[in-house]
Amino acid sequence: MIQELRFKKIKKDTYFKKRGGVTKICDIVCTGCNRTVLVYQKDGPGWLKRCYENRVILPKTINIKKNLLCDCGNVLASPVVYKDGRFAWHLITGKFKRRKSKYDKKFRS
Ligand SMILES: [Zn+2]
Repeated sequence: MIQELRFKKIKKDTYFKKRGGVTKICDIVCTGCNRTVLVYQKDGPGWLKRCYENRVILPKTINIKKNLLCDCGNVLASPVVYKDGRFAWHLITGKFKRRKSKYDKKFRS
């Protein structure tokens, strides 16, 4: 199945620049069943704590104002409003793991 991506090149906006101009495309994987729940552009170094709507590559349709659920029923993240007003998912420790995505290379070419 070919899934439609929400964007196809690394986003290089003000947030990207603020985070030092380094980025990785990651898969956010459910620890319950090992499914990839999100593909995400992670800007800057360090631990992944939050996912912002404009950095989600897959799936195409999301609702950032609801819990991030895996098909197996595992809740990976809950909605938060970040201090700058952006909606985000706050990832729950132990419910997800982060993996380098196969899209990482494609997004750089
Ligand atoms: Zn799962």
